[in-house]
Amino acid sequence: MQNARREVAFLQRVLDAIPSPVYLKDLDGRYRVCNEAFARFLGRDGAEIIGRTVQEITAEDTARRHEEIDRQLLAGFRAPLDGSGWVEYESDLASAAHEMTHGISRKAVMKDESGAALGVVGTVVDVTKLKAAQDGYRRAQKYLSAIIEFLPDPTFVVDAQHRVTAWNKAMEAMTDTPGDEVLGTTGHAQAFYGFQRPMLVDVLLDGVAASDGDYEQVCRDGDGVVAEAFVPHLYGGRGGYIWGKAALLYDEEGQGAGAVQSLRDVTDRRNAESALANAKRFAEELLDRIAVPSLVIGRNHEVLLWNRSLADLTGVQSADTVGTDRQWRGFYETGRPVLADLVLEQDAEQIARFYPNAVPSHTEPGGWRDEGWLQADTRERRYVVFEALPVRIAGRIEAVIQTTSDLTEIKMAAEAVEESMRKYQLISERSLVGIYVTTMDRFAYVNPKMTEIFGYTREEFLAGMGLLQLVVPADRRVVRMSVRDRLEGAAVGTAVSFRGRKKTGQLVYLEEYGAAAMYEGERAIIGSIMDVTARKTAENRTLAMSAWLEEVNAALKQANEKLEVLSSTDSLTGLANRRAFDTRMRTEWLRAVREHCRLSLVVADVDFFKAYNDTYGHPEGDECLKRIAEVLGRAARRPGDLAARFGGEEFVLLLPNTEPAGAEEVAKRVLAEVQALSIAHPGSCVSAVVTVSLGVASMIPARGDHPQILISAADDALYRAKSAGRNRVEAARC
Ligand code: GH3
Ligand code: MG
Ligand code: MG
Repeated sequence: MQNARREVAFLQRVLDAIPSPVYLKDLDGRYRVCNEAFARFLGRDGAEIIGRTVQEITAEDTARRHEEIDRQLLAGFRAPLDGSGWVEYESDLASAAHEMTHGISRKAVMKDESGAALGVVGTVVDVTKLKAAQDGYRRAQKYLSAIIEFLPDPTFVVDAQHRVTAWNKAMEAMTDTPGDEVLGTTGHAQAFYGFQRPMLVDVLLDGVAASDGDYEQVCRDGDGVVAEAFVPHLYGGRGGYIWGKAALLYDEEGQGAGAVQSLRDVTDRRNAESALANAKRFAEELLDRIAVPSLVIGRNHEVLLWNRSLADLTGVQSADTVGTDRQWRGFYETGRPVLADLVLEQDAEQIARFYPNAVPSHTEPGGWRDEGWLQADTRERRYVVFEALPVRIAGRIEAVIQTTSDLTEIKMAAEAVEESMRKYQLISERSLVGIYVTTMDRFAYVNPKMTEIFGYTREEFLAGMGLLQLVVPADRRVVRMSVRDRLEGAAVGTAVSFRGRKKTGQLVYLEEYGAAAMYEGERAIIGSIMDVTARKTAENRTLAMSAWLEEVNAALKQANEKLEVLSSTDSLTGLANRRAFDTRMRTEWLRAVREHCRLSLVVADVDFFKAYNDTYGHPEGDECLKRIAEVLGRAARRPGDLAARFGGEEFVLLLPNTEPAGAEEVAKRVLAEVQALSIAHPGSCVSAVVTVSLGVASMIPARGDHPQILISAADDALYRAKSAGRNRVEAARC
């Protein structure tokens, strides 16, 4: 007995040393043995448990479940889960303080040596905490799902295994996929993109970086990630720009338990943005392409745009100005405001200081315009018109656009014409003949003799009177016809006799000679009128007239020669003239420098042309030149090609972007075609017909090179063609 009690005490100590709750129940269901862990698990003393049934120590409904399992075990109904004879199940037990504990019970029937059942032995694994965590998570998930369901943004949640646990209404609408189809699956990407690929949630859960190829503008946002992409699959294939943000969800232990992703349709914003960006790009392209040299500055005087024409005009490249506030470099030698800067500030005082002759622009309120000679660094003087116009956005000046038109040639021609007009006027003021200028139908100028002949004052003449008002009705037809012929260019100068009437009504006999001319930019007639009423002697009249005609003709010729400067075609051949060639050469040269492309030049010179003139005479020589010019005109095939008369019997072909072989090809064609014209040329030492010699040069010009390099190279080649026997093509070696 003593021994037996000692043994029990020893057994009890062993049991108490086991950390898991352990107990033994007899066939009546009364606890016979239990360890401290079991007592702790139930929140009671060991003594309180021994001798009691589970009914007596825990809540009735949970107790019933345990007893039922014991009964089944003892009756042999419940087959053990494995061969070990243990059965395992989850259940709750109420503690003494009526707190529920949650455990996994393992039980087996205890038998004696004969195999008869003695009772039930069991252990409990306390999973209360685990259970609480799981329940909390499940509850949280449920709350989360409920909240997500009501979010206006399309939102979904996946668990740590990438399975969808929430998929809200907005998500259904965006993807046309009901929640039922995706919940519990990993098919969120399939629903979103139409094929399987990682979404932001997956990227976050797997801890890999989202690739820029899959998204636009991926960036980290705290421990989340945001990105934007166009998703063609959405809205039944209509597609949309989608902004998405994903964040990890953590459990109590700080482990990644899932991830949530919210989406937003930004299609409208993106469309507006790209429309704006397109409009901006378009405006930039447009400005760059237009021929008027232009620049745009922004609010802080920084150059936003500096177009190609302006780079050509000023020699200052956009790369040197855009982004800086050194726009003055294009125009002046030292730092100072340009007109655009002052317009930006709307500073009338400074405008008056820097641009004393500026006038407000008609184009835009707040804009200013100025013209004058400009001398930038070492370049030639140019006559330019500046116009700076404010660009207002919502009433505020956000930028200023300044155009700089180069009017040098026009200005020089106009000055030349003005000067010859002044000279002409001087003569005319002293003249004994009436002189007038009339544009279309009104006098623009009359000399003192005109007032003497007709009795009107100069003011009366210039207040809107026309030539026809001076003519008696019967003679108006012939005067009108004469005027029309001059204006339409059918005749350069014509003479007409008619009867006129003085202011007093008195009849006068008049001789008039006039010619077409330009006057202040308009087509006009410069005419002279002589009063022949007195009819002294016919001789007198003729003398006076011819002297006068000479004077007038000389002045007209001079004026028209100056006006020629404005023209770009050669009047004999109709090809571009030397001036047009020079201008084009300059722009093509600058372009070739800028774009590193090739420029080719062909120079052609007629062989023994002096002899041709000597044989047939100058007018026949002119005819020959016209026919050769036609060949050159045809040879300039591409839109960028230019055929020009370089002077005398020399022609040039400017061929941008043309390789040396191509240029030589063109030259050979000209050679053959001129020969094919078969114009007899007995004076030629090399052929029976008119021939040309041609020189070809080609180069990729470098910054700082002068176009003359190319012209000289082609000229040298031409010289070699001449000395090698003429009627051939030679190419420069450069
Ligand atoms: P080469 O083969 O060495 O070129 O001999 P060439 O006689 O053609 O050379 P040169 O330059 O000595 O003579 C050119 C001649 O072209 C002189 C001039 O009378 C003539 N010429 C120049 N311009 C015109 C023009 O507009 N009309 C006519 N008919 N002849 C012109
Ligand atoms: Mg010549
Ligand atoms: Mg010649």
